[in-house]
Amino acid sequence: MSYEKYNEKVKKISESIKLNKKLITTNRKGHNYRDLKFKKNQNRIDTGNLTNILSIDGKYIDCESAVTIGKVNRATIPRKKIIPSLPEGDNFTVGGCLAGLGLGSSSYIHGFFNDNVIDFDIVLGNGEIMKNVSKLKNPDLYYGIGGTYGTMGIITRVKTKLVSCEKYVKVNYFHYDSFENFYEEFQRKIKKKNDDFIEAFQNKKEDYTIVTANFISDVNPNDVSVIKDKDILKQRHMCIYAQIAKKKKSSYLRLLDYLERYSYSAFWGHYLYSPYKIRDYIYAGLMYSLIPKKILDASPGHGKYNISKYFHAANRIVGDYTRDEYVIATDIGVPLSKLKGAIDLADEMTGTYPRWLCPIIDNHNPEKIFCTRKTDICKDDIIIDLGIYGIKNTNNKSKRINQAFEKFSFDNGIFKGFFSTCYFTYDDFWKQFDKQKYENIRKKYHADKNFMDIYDKINYRNKVKNGNLRSKLFTFFGKKYLRQINKNKDTLIK
Ligand SMILES: Cc1cc2nc3c(=O)[nH]c(=O)nc-3n(C[C@H](O)[C@H](O)[C@H](O)COP(=O)(O)OP(=O)(O)OC[C@H]3O[C@@H](n4cnc5c(N)ncnc54)[C@H](O)[C@@H]3O)c2cc1C
Repeated sequence: MSYEKYNEKVKKISESIKLNKKLITTNRKGHNYRDLKFKKNQNRIDTGNLTNILSIDGKYIDCESAVTIGKVNRATIPRKKIIPSLPEGDNFTVGGCLAGLGLGSSSYIHGFFNDNVIDFDIVLGNGEIMKNVSKLKNPDLYYGIGGTYGTMGIITRVKTKLVSCEKYVKVNYFHYDSFENFYEEFQRKIKKKNDDFIEAFQNKKEDYTIVTANFISDVNPNDVSVIKDKDILKQRHMCIYAQIAKKKKSSYLRLLDYLERYSYSAFWGHYLYSPYKIRDYIYAGLMYSLIPKKILDASPGHGKYNISKYFHAANRIVGDYTRDEYVIATDIGVPLSKLKGAIDLADEMTGTYPRWLCPIIDNHNPEKIFCTRKTDICKDDIIIDLGIYGIKNTNNKSKRINQAFEKFSFDNGIFKGFFSTCYFTYDDFWKQFDKQKYENIRKKYHADKNFMDIYDKINYRNKVKNGNLRSKLFTFFGKKYLRQINKNKDTLIK
């Protein structure tokens, strides 16, 4: 693929933006569990054809912005290279990871996805094409773009560093029956940086597992669990959580399968849609038969069983307020030293297990706006992404839960994932982030009158659709279905 063709595509985007009179957005549905109805009234720029890898060598990969992480991995791993900090989803895009958030189990060494970007191109709100935005050329935009969620411009190209890897990993599972034992070892491993990848899970109140993965070059092929396709029945074998539930000590995986371990199972979300008991098939059948096929097919680029589709579908039918009363998908930023407090809060608020604990080194830079900590409050440079994905097991209202998490993160100088349902008040939000800096760069780069403001975008709520028959049926069967799945979870894993 040539840069010439890429330049033609970018020129077209620029021309359509120049003619534009409305607010601008991408046409992506992406991985945001928020209401995306606002897109209907905006000029949606199609980034769907920006799917080519432009060049690759030993040190970097240069991609059009809608290239997926899965495509990147398939191009780099055969050369024994990977992007240093990779998110856990093969259909996230490089543009989405730069504009939104990108992190994974190697982030405790390599930081966020955007810390590893060399340069990028962006089409501004006035149609101007800015090429090679970098640390040196436009530091305000380079550092400021992370976490702006499409409110700064249309990113068209992202060039990222590569580091060396092997084609296989050995995955080790360390099991603990108390927070204290787990935490001591987790801190020690993070500090030592001996492992290529590290993450942890709180499986139940006093049941934790640390999972490390390390590159290996020499492995007996019979020892490697290779999953060749995304057959729905195979998903559970790939889910690291299933291995934990079996209290495994170690396993071997192809690096590609390790990096996509949650793509097959949408973390452990597949328990929500691939049950193994007859009764659950009936509930599932009833529930999904209520989802119009055109909604399920309406997420271009997503795999057949991608869980986002079900969230989008549920969203369309019952509205995100109603959905959130049963299922939680939220990520809270927590300083490593405050982990116990966050876990206690999540126990009290949600009773939802398992939870994902992913450490990230925060390479603070004063030009960053959203994807970093407030260094005067948070002294730890390691922050934990505490991911809570699953069925809510308390009667607390979703709003109360999310506001408690948001307060916890902000009080500790960190942020909560904007892709989940947000309830920040305007004042609390801008107490945490530098409004002046955000507005200055929006003005300087012509975003202010052309792209939605970030607060409005992440707090957007369409009128809840809960009055119609389909919504009532969906909620009735859905609630029973989720309760049943939750009860069966432990036996389903085995
Ligand atoms: C259940 C769940 C689990 C998740 N797990 C992880 C995880 O393990 N690791 C992780 O890092 N993240 C995770 N995420 C968050 C997700 O990675 C981020 O939201 C990421 O930005 C998604 O990438 P995407 O390509 O799908 O972007 P999208 O969702 O399409 O976009 C994200 C934002 O960036 C904007 N955007 C996208 N493309 C462009 C572009 N070309 N130009 C300008 N703006 C653009 C969009 O408008 C949007 O606001 C998770 C999210 C959920 C809901």
